[in-house]
Amino acid sequence: MTPERWERIARLLKDGPISNGEVSRRLGEDRRAVAGVRADLGLPEYVQPAAKQWTREGFEAMSIPLRGGHRRWRGRVQRDGTPVVDGKLTAYRLSFRLHHDREPVGRVLGTCRMKRCVAGAHLEDDVLRAARDDGSSLTELPAGATWQGMDLVAIRRCLRGSAPWPPLSLPEARFAYRFSKPSMSAAELARRLGLCATTVERYRTKGVPPC
Ligand SMILES: [Zn+2]
Repeated sequence: MTPERWERIARLLKDGPISNGEVSRRLGEDRRAVAGVRADLGLPEYVQPAAKQWTREGFEAMSIPLRGGHRRWRGRVQRDGTPVVDGKLTAYRLSFRLHHDREPVGRVLGTCRMKRCVAGAHLEDDVLRAARDDGSSLTELPAGATWQGMDLVAIRRCLRGSAPWPPLSLPEARFAYRFSKPSMSAAELARRLGLCATTVERYRTKGVPPC
């Protein structure tokens, strides 16, 4: 092996942690050559962190935040461009799990316009898709911080918390209305949701327009 090749491999290994396979893939080098350089350097074998061991901090360190709340994966990508953690786990599924604190069900697909975005809030699994497709049948506020781009934390505060109440957008106010207590006066509910009392009364007699 030429000193230049040795040096290129050594640089990547020292910048690691990185697997021999990944170095060989990136540099087009033979795996055994990479293993040889690793031995020359006295570096320990690379151990892939188990999927369960990933933390939100670890995920954030491996992805770049972009404007609009998007994130780009800094780690491996498959030939088709899919960002992956390893051979079994895509960055989408990892991100979803960390964001929602549960395993995704079915396929995890992006909901934003950025290709390959791995932001947890921009990903949906079968459960979330079903809920979104049929939002009108929801009987309680979805869990989590956002739903279809709506700020559920603010909505919860307006429905159940004490003043001051955060301002809601009109879709948020209409959405929140559907989960309000019928026993609350129209004036009180209107104050909480930032609507006119007459609007709330109209919702109560004629129904709320779709969000
Ligand atoms: Zn996005």
